Amino acid sequence: MRYSRAFVPTLKEVPKEATMPSHVLMLRAGYARMVGAGIYELLPLGTRVLHKIEQIIREEMDGAGAQELLMPTFVPSAYFKETGRWEAYGPTLLRIKDRKGGEYHLAPTHEEIVTDLVRREIKSYRQLPLNLYQIQLKYRDEPRPRGGLLRCREFIMKDAYSFDVSEEAALESYAHMRATYHRIFKRFGLDYRVVEADSGAIGGKLSAEFQVLAQTGEDWIVACGACDYAANVEVAQAGRAKPPTTFSSEAAPLEKVETPDARSIDEVVSFFGGETTAAHTLKSLLYVAGEEVVLAIVRGDHEVNEIGLARHLGVEEVLLAADGAVKEATGTEIGFVGPVGFGGRIVADPDAVAVPNAIAGAGETPYHYRNVNHGRDFEAGVVSIRQAASGDPCPNCDGALEVYRGIEGGHIFVLGTHYTDKMNASFLDEEGSSRSIVMGCYGIGVTRLIAAIIEQHHDEQGIRWPVNVAPYQVIITPIGKDEAPLARATELYDSLRAEGVEVLLDDRPERPGVKFKDADLLGIPVRITIGSRGLKQGTVELKKRTDSESQDVPMDGAAAATRAALAELGA
Ligand SMILES: [Zn+2]
Repeated sequence: MRYSRAFVPTLKEVPKEATMPSHVLMLRAGYARMVGAGIYELLPLGTRVLHKIEQIIREEMDGAGAQELLMPTFVPSAYFKETGRWEAYGPTLLRIKDRKGGEYHLAPTHEEIVTDLVRREIKSYRQLPLNLYQIQLKYRDEPRPRGGLLRCREFIMKDAYSFDVSEEAALESYAHMRATYHRIFKRFGLDYRVVEADSGAIGGKLSAEFQVLAQTGEDWIVACGACDYAANVEVAQAGRAKPPTTFSSEAAPLEKVETPDARSIDEVVSFFGGETTAAHTLKSLLYVAGEEVVLAIVRGDHEVNEIGLARHLGVEEVLLAADGAVKEATGTEIGFVGPVGFGGRIVADPDAVAVPNAIAGAGETPYHYRNVNHGRDFEAGVVSIRQAASGDPCPNCDGALEVYRGIEGGHIFVLGTHYTDKMNASFLDEEGSSRSIVMGCYGIGVTRLIAAIIEQHHDEQGIRWPVNVAPYQVIITPIGKDEAPLARATELYDSLRAEGVEVLLDDRPERPGVKFKDADLLGIPVRITIGSRGLKQGTVELKKRTDSESQDVPMDGAAAATRAALAELGA
């Protein structure tokens, strides 16, 4: 492609609401534009990246024996009504009425549609296993679309569905897809972790997320530095933290201190000052758990694992009590709640009860207690209810856990017979008895991955595409006013293209500085610069986007040097 003809509308200024690097860079570098909240168009460069990602997915999915099909996005409501998701999805489901008043929705996911297809067409164990996938638009009316392509209302997903004769066979399909996902994510050039996950609304039994590590991710995960263990902080097993050491472990007398403006842990720590750290304080949070109100205590530097707390209490979920409920249950305000004298049930984390002479809310506004000791000053059920944190021991090995932020790029589930039971999707086994088909499902957020890759691969100057997903592999930049550089650049452009290399030729009459800036912004992995001065010595400059220095290579060997550089980058 000749840059002078390319539709690459770069921007100097981006809208204020774009704060995530991928969002800013996709707008600045002319990859995407917003059409409405959470609705984007991909411009030609963005579309090329999309096609690269789709191609990798197709090659690996087809290689794994899955078959591509295309299901509709505009779907009659009957299928979701059959499984109860018409109600369960709530306002996230985009509902439509047709001219006759018939109810439809724009598909957020396709379990029902594919299960319906399979129940109509699959009759015998001989037709199984089967794995069907599509790369298709999806719709979710997110309350807060954000981060450009990271959380959209319209987006492209790859969704695959496996159908098996038994649970064991389904587990095999799951393991096979897990291995396939590893190949896909490696080819994307991503640093990622596979984490055990809570399966959320899809209703699965076993599931894992492929989390792309990025500072801006909205999921928190812990991963071991020494082995493969990784988990969402919400389900990770927290180890035992070292108790704080600077305070005496001799129980000192309880002391009430007036702390007018100290409500948060940070405020309490700075109020008490000296050697006080968050680890010397107790965080007291009041939760509504079904009919009951429960006080949860964790150490001040830890967070409550609400999913773990709910499981321990045997309820679906726990909700933080609102101001009014706190006042009613404790007689004080949020910020001064504490375990001493609390009348209801208290659940405390082992690391919290291990703190000697802790600082905790006094249950009276505006006071805190100093020297709170479990056993003497309050009683609690002691259960691990905190989120895993950096430095916790790994549950699998001697290594330590580290906390990362991640972007969910893929999610795989064993669904069992959740959908096939509800929708009567069955087959006749070898004995001629009817059994429910066992399902798995496997998603990849295709447009989200464009953003996730940029989140992981960029610098101050712009994007740094991994070579396998770059819109063009090479940009050739002739500089200067002479005719020779452009003529030689065009020759190299033609010869690389003849070999199947994807090249952008920057034939614009721009200054070198402008061309270099744009090349860095666009993120093309290899840049060849051809100038009059180099040509006199028979050389051109080759620079990888990830290197700070360029190297001189002979003009005659430029095509070979370019191919070698691409090979080094993993093309
Ligand atoms: Zn480990």
